[in-house]
Formats: sequence, C-alpha cells, structure tokens
Amino acid sequence: MQEQSLKASFQWLILLGRVSMDESFDWDSLTFSLTPTETMYLTTAKADEPWMPGELRPYGDIPMSPAAGVLNYGQGLFEGMKAYRTSTGRIVFFRPEENARRMQRGADRLKMPPVPESIFVDAVEQVVAANQHWVPPSGKGAMYVRPLLMGSGPVLGVAPAPSYTFLIYVTPVGPYFKGGMVAIDLLISEHHHRAAPGGSGGVKAIGNYAPGMKPSKEAKAQGYAEVIYLDAETHTDIEEVGAANFFCVKDNVLYTPELTGTILPGITRDSIIQLARHRGYEVVEGKVSAAFAMAADEAFCCGTAAVISPIGSITHDGDKTVYGDGQPGAVTVELYDALTGIQNETEEDVFGWLHPLP
Ligand SMILES: *Cc1c(COP(=O)(O)O)cnc(C)c1O
Repeated sequence: MQEQSLKASFQWLILLGRVSMDESFDWDSLTFSLTPTETMYLTTAKADEPWMPGELRPYGDIPMSPAAGVLNYGQGLFEGMKAYRTSTGRIVFFRPEENARRMQRGADRLKMPPVPESIFVDAVEQVVAANQHWVPPSGKGAMYVRPLLMGSGPVLGVAPAPSYTFLIYVTPVGPYFKGGMVAIDLLISEHHHRAAPGGSGGVKAIGNYAPGMKPSKEAKAQGYAEVIYLDAETHTDIEEVGAANFFCVKDNVLYTPELTGTILPGITRDSIIQLARHRGYEVVEGKVSAAFAMAADEAFCCGTAAVISPIGSITHDGDKTVYGDGQPGAVTVELYDALTGIQNETEEDVFGWLHPLP
C-alpha cells in the first residue's frame, strides 16, 4: 500500500520534472560525471531461472547481502552506451543491440545468466523514456546509459552467486570536447599490463578497471592524459589506451590491434572500421607494435565517452613521438565528423546504426 502511494507521487514528480526541467537546467555545465536522474530499471533472476522483464523504480541505493558474489569476488559486468537527442529532435540510441550481445558474452565468461537481448534493449528504452527530460539538447551532450549485471545473491565459497541483478541507471553527460577537439599526450605503461591471454580483458568485467587506476593516476601526475598498455606476453604491441581502443594511420592506411581476447571489442572501434572502409580507406587489424605506431602519421583512441580522441604524442621509455604538429590529424578529424554526424543525424545513417526511442 505504502509502496503504491510512493510510486504514485513519484510519477507526479516525473511529470513535473518534464515540464520544468528543460528551461531551468544549465546544460552547458555538464561534464562526464554523475548527475543522478529520477528513475532506474531493475530486475533479478535466480541462477537457474529465466530473466523476466523488470520494472522502473526511483533511483537510489539498493540493499545487498554482505556475502553478495559481486562484493566478494567481483562477479559483475558493466556496459556503457549513449542516447542522443539529434538535430531532428528525436532521441536515438547508437547500436544498443551490440551492447546487449557484448554483455551476453561477458556473462558467459563470468558464469552469469545472460540477459536476453530483447529484455536488455527494452530495459534501455524504458529507462531512457522515463528520464527523457534529462537527455541534453542536440549538441550539448548525451544521456549516458549504464547497465550493470552482477551476482547479488550470497555465496561464501568461490563459486557463481545463486541470484543476479540486472540494473540500468542513466545520467546526462556533456560533450567530451567543449570548444573543439584537443589532442592528448599519452605514456606507455612500462610496469603494468591491463590483461593477460586467457583472462577477462575481452569482456567488460568490473574487476578489470580498478588495477588501471594507479598507472593512470601516476601518468596524470606526470602530465599525461592516460596510459597505453602493451601486451603482457612480449611488452611490444599496443593493446589499449586506458579504457579506449587504439588506431594509427600510416600512408592513409588505418591500423588497429586485432581482437585476441585481451582487447575489449569496442563498438566505436567496430564502427570506425566499417566507416573507414566505406569511405575507401584500407583498415588492417593485426599486431601494432609501439615502434610502428610511433612512426605513424596520426593516432587516435576511441570509445563511447569521447567517440574519437586524437593523440598528440606518445612517450615510451623516455622517447617521445609528436604526431603532426600536435594538432588532430586529417583522417582522425574526417572519421570523427562522419561518426558524430551519423549520431546527430546530420549525415545519412548508411549502416542502420541508429535505434530510435519508440
Ligand atoms: C568500453 C571499453 C572500450 C570502448 O568500447 P565502446 O563500445 O566503443 O565504448 C574500450 N576499451 C575498454 C577496456 C573498455 O572497457
């Protein structure tokens, strides 16, 4: 009874928010940080039972057993995607089915029951629809969508949890580059690796990220934007830039590290490969040694947050390579404009990547 009336007054809050939000909120103040919204989505399942569609509820803390699998053994995955309010005024997702499939592959690796693609996409649509007054105006950023899948049931021995929680929260974020693209300076990490062959580097396992915080902080203290990780076996080939994928351009050919299981298969990475080929570029997926990359003409990294970040320089063991004059390269800018043009509906969606909010 009490929950019912809470829900009802909550619905009213949402409605009130919808009429007042757009005029009062300062969209220009948004950065890539958490601005809590009103509504989140949550559903649970036992390990051996199918997922059922969940429901929207007020954004807030969730109770959890101290013995939850995710708290004790890191049995958890995250996803990250964006909903855009485009130049036409409608709200679109960018390839959400790919996030659903990637989370399914991660669930398989971490022994969690995979969430069906239909439930995942429906959940993403519901939570964005409920908070749509928080989707920034076109050009002012996007709504970042953060799905989580975790072992929430109690377990003491190292084993899969008996039950699971799938939840999604959303937050508006500002454009990554305010006032134009800025090329970033990167440092190759000499003492740390992100992932090892046979490990979990190829899925968005939550446990993959905390070990990167120390190398990243140390690089930032030295004035670099992020670290580049080389492969753990030979310490020769570039794998990733922090939590973004790497590309370089040499004689108008694009090179990107091949997916060997230690690299996270970014949806932005895949989109750039398809887009570059469509525009007539050759794209090579293979080993990209640090030495090769440092002799390239341009380099950039990519992911949902920044889409494409031009790389201005790479420092490796005291040697520094500066690309061009430290300005974003021509191919980098061309691909950034093409991809963000599709996402903002100022360019034709030739690949059918946009998924409108119903
Ligand atoms: C999420 C992520 C990426 C980028 O993936 P997108 O699907 O393009 O956002 C790249 N590397 C790592 C390690 C990641 O976690």
